[in-house]
Amino acid sequence: AKAAGKNRYLRFHPDMMTALIQRTDMEAGLQLAIPRREISVAFQPIVSPRMGQVVQVEALARWDRYGERIPPSVFVPMAERSGLISEIGAEVMALSLVQLAPWLKEDLSRSVAVNVSGVQLLEPDFASRVLSLAEASGVGAYQLVLEVTESVFFDADCSLIQQLSSLREAGVRVALDDFGTGYSSLGRLQDLPVDTVKIDKTFVSMVRTGAERLPILSSMINMAHSLGLTVTAEGVETVAQADYLTALDCDSLQGYLFSLPETGARLELAVQQAQEA
Ligand code: C2E
Ligand code: CA
Ligand code: CA
Ligand code: CA
Repeated sequence: AKAAGKNRYLRFHPDMMTALIQRTDMEAGLQLAIPRREISVAFQPIVSPRMGQVVQVEALARWDRYGERIPPSVFVPMAERSGLISEIGAEVMALSLVQLAPWLKEDLSRSVAVNVSGVQLLEPDFASRVLSLAEASGVGAYQLVLEVTESVFFDADCSLIQQLSSLREAGVRVALDDFGTGYSSLGRLQDLPVDTVKIDKTFVSMVRTGAERLPILSSMINMAHSLGLTVTAEGVETVAQADYLTALDCDSLQGYLFSLPETGARLELAVQQAQEA
């Protein structure tokens, strides 16, 4: 056994070793991120062009590790593999509800959207925990949106579908994130228990001058509307994109054109500016 171990070691390039140590180190650090209060939430305004108002914000997890910001594209997959995403997701939801409660209570048509990983939906008490978090913060369940990607439905068991339906019965809405990037998008949409689709930014970035014909964008929006769903476009960076999507009757817009994700006091400013953009 010892010889085999040694052999395996030899095939290990020093760079791989460094990368492995760094990753293991980061994974260990992620375990401590919540107790050390290194996890925070940034909020990005979502604008309704019809009302010229910020109607929703999306909560995005942030991890500051010893002053260095680790992007979610790095730590979210890591947390999904280790199962830590359940704790992080719960923390993000709790922080979001507490921080936004005053803003949400001011106008009951406002809502907060939180990203939910497929791993979380496998917990048998996920739905009841979400509902008690909302109740504890005094925020209505109908002011909460859960963003999931199409992949959670691939091998969805009945428990997952049950959790989502009991949440939706309580008024929580479900949004299909990154819409258009999955395999079966348009055809399967009518079978999915969702209220909103979020058109992925790769489609929005196809709008460059605003003069092009993009039947794929209008099909996505029309299809969603014909199924009674609302449509949010993400990654809106230019006025041409905002105008194009508004002309296609897109219900809400999100992107750097209106605001970056912002924390704390800067959020209030961001909401005002997004409204004026
Ligand atoms: P997402 O849910 O698709 O979130 C949108 C991402 O696009 C965010 O990146 C946001 O900052 C970025 N974005 C917003 N507007 C624009 C724009 O105009 N142009 C461009 N190019 N990008 C824009 P972020 O915050 O780095 O998050 C990346 C991903 O990490 C999220 O993608 C989501 O899948 C995941 N994530 C973030 N927070 C959480 C969380 O609390 N739980 C889970 N499960 N996943 C999370
Ligand atoms: Ca999202
Ligand atoms: Ca997305
Ligand atoms: Ca994404």
